[in-house]
Amino acid sequence: MSQGVTTQAELRLAKRMGRLGSETAFEVLARARALEAQGKDIIHLEIGEPDFDTPQNVVETGIDALRQGWTHYTPSGGLGELREAIAEEVSRTRGVPCTADEVVVVPGGKPTIFFAFMSFVEEGDEVIYPNPGFPIYESMVNFLGGRPVPLPLREEKDFRLDPNELADLITDRTRLIVLNSPHNPTGSVLDEQDVRDIAAAIGDRDIMVLSDEIYSRLIFEGDHFSLMSVPGMKDRTIMLDGFSKTYAMTGWRLGYGVMRPDLAKHFSRLMMNVNSCTASFTQIAGIEALRGDQSSVEHMCREFKRRRDRFVEHISRIKGFTCRLPKGAFYTFPSIRDTGWTSKKLADALLDQAGVACLAGTAFGAFGEGYLRFSTANSMENLDKALDRIDAWTKKNL
Ligand code: PLP
Repeated sequence: MSQGVTTQAELRLAKRMGRLGSETAFEVLARARALEAQGKDIIHLEIGEPDFDTPQNVVETGIDALRQGWTHYTPSGGLGELREAIAEEVSRTRGVPCTADEVVVVPGGKPTIFFAFMSFVEEGDEVIYPNPGFPIYESMVNFLGGRPVPLPLREEKDFRLDPNELADLITDRTRLIVLNSPHNPTGSVLDEQDVRDIAAAIGDRDIMVLSDEIYSRLIFEGDHFSLMSVPGMKDRTIMLDGFSKTYAMTGWRLGYGVMRPDLAKHFSRLMMNVNSCTASFTQIAGIEALRGDQSSVEHMCREFKRRRDRFVEHISRIKGFTCRLPKGAFYTFPSIRDTGWTSKKLADALLDQAGVACLAGTAFGAFGEGYLRFSTANSMENLDKALDRIDAWTKKNL
């Protein structure tokens, strides 16, 4: 080292940090913002968050809570009253009794994923998860040294997982199975029979299931049915839900896991180690979200359905695109196989040349090749504009 010059020491990170994945939506958002900074006009259909405001009654309750001094720690697993409100909501919507000691309040949807994997996956353990699917599942398996076992979701089956294929993938090393309905990125919804068949495929094996139900209130056809409602499955289910999507509260960071009480104690201990607790005024606002007026949720769901109908109808008319009708969430996942382009190349071209930000299907795993994901969490006017731009681009370039 030359005199007077200090060099930065090499970062000697733990190996597992090299195995941690990321979420492409945030990366594409950053690229889109950089293009905007250069003066380009971009329509954002990449990020998965409702474009609606948090309902006013919830905002007011949060502000009042701050004024009333809800600015301190709460119990790690969440305030008793919020856990009661969640238990009531879950009992009502899943049709099985749920008590507050089965609920752990966490900052958003993701912590329940992280805690479930931390609690059950040892090195070499197998985890079965949907592919295409939310990228954090695969990231977590790799991070913890588990063995990722992707379960392909196929367009011919409306992207609903096939219980027979699931049964074939289960081995003695399977420790965790991830379900996600309504599904990101395809918008598929498992019906009651699917869920019962999945339970039958699992049988009485000692396997835990993370049932990611974060979009449970955003369903356009049929009803939501949870694995925890199947007799005998509740004890083996960690049910994830939260406020981010249902109440347009992504930035508040509020979600929950529902699980057997002895496991809930471990989740609370993880919370104590990682976060101490979820922000207290956010929790107070959550009580209002659950117990207050629900008309904004209904309005949002109706609006997402209207946009879905319009988007699917129009995108299906564009050269090289075909599209199934998603039954829930706010994503459409058209096939672009007939364009002859790969997903990544087409998504990049649409961003750079057409000013439309979307995600390659491969951002959700290898079985997403041949598809693009569009989030319809944008105004009808912007969706129409995006469709016009894609149409014009394909006419010129395909
Ligand atoms: N699970 C799924 C399937 C999601 O799509 C998302 C967010 O996009 C989450 C969990 C995480 O939600 P949150 O942003 O509240 O952590």
